[in-house]
Amino acid sequence: MKRLIALILSLSVLVLLHGCGEPSDNGSSDVSAVSSETQSTQSTQSTSDTVSMLTGKEKYMEELKKNEVFKQYDESDWRSHAYDYKLVALTFDDGPAFKAADDNNVTVRIVDTLLQYEGKGTFFFTGRSLAKNGFVVPQYALNNGFELANHSYNHASLKEADYETAVFEIVGVNDLYYENLEMTPTFFRGGGFTTGTNMWKVLAEQDMIAIASLRGGNGDHSGGSATVESLVDRLSPDKVSDGEIVCLHSTNTKGVTPDALAIVLPQLYEQGFRFCTVSELFAFKGVDLNEVPRGEYIKKVVITENGLIDFN
Ligand SMILES: [Zn+2]
Repeated sequence: MKRLIALILSLSVLVLLHGCGEPSDNGSSDVSAVSSETQSTQSTQSTSDTVSMLTGKEKYMEELKKNEVFKQYDESDWRSHAYDYKLVALTFDDGPAFKAADDNNVTVRIVDTLLQYEGKGTFFFTGRSLAKNGFVVPQYALNNGFELANHSYNHASLKEADYETAVFEIVGVNDLYYENLEMTPTFFRGGGFTTGTNMWKVLAEQDMIAIASLRGGNGDHSGGSATVESLVDRLSPDKVSDGEIVCLHSTNTKGVTPDALAIVLPQLYEQGFRFCTVSELFAFKGVDLNEVPRGEYIKKVVITENGLIDFN
């Protein structure tokens, strides 16, 4: 089921009509107040031909460009005008890879390859891998602006999990992050995109957002059948689309994931794609995290022709 949420559209009409030019912080203003004010101005709208000729998406983009989020970056940084690019949130499950932060560590190679193309990504680490492999590699990713997220403690199916198990699988990982890196993740992805009644309950209690992917797992998990060639094909510029969340892995000991990224990232970059964290994807599309649906997996953040957001 598609869920569409109106964000800045009605506000942008109001701002353009009033000509005040005030930027919107996050587009999550009091919608009912905006709607009634917009209605009250409609009788005087006939002179605003320019406004009425814009499509919903064009109005959304006009308003998005004023968003404060872009102003924190230097002009030379593509993020200062991220709305001009096709954005992809590359996510990497199952790590961190083994302990040493050296050239052969798959997780580290993913970080370094993305940095070469001015990109960042999001790692969904499991609690058991964090406990086993330590925090040197996660700290390295964090220091380079990457985002760390929660992939459950044991990668177990949470379909039938009782409440205590769901708490351990989700909060247990949050606690590890907090104790070792002094951060708390916002995003969760169950192993195999698992769902369960108690999983959703605990996520709601923790105010966490579930993140999946538009096209499954791509087969590059440890022991999976993906090859460099198959990954390059799946991530080619004609197959990836703006606003997509892509699910890859950072534990394949053959290193197919960073090897494929080294080939395909320059192709995507050349075609106007840029690579961001999940948080950045929401922010750069003008979506406040409070507006993101809970209780379902988010697969993409796409601005529709009507100026709405399609999350799945
Ligand atoms: Zn996984």
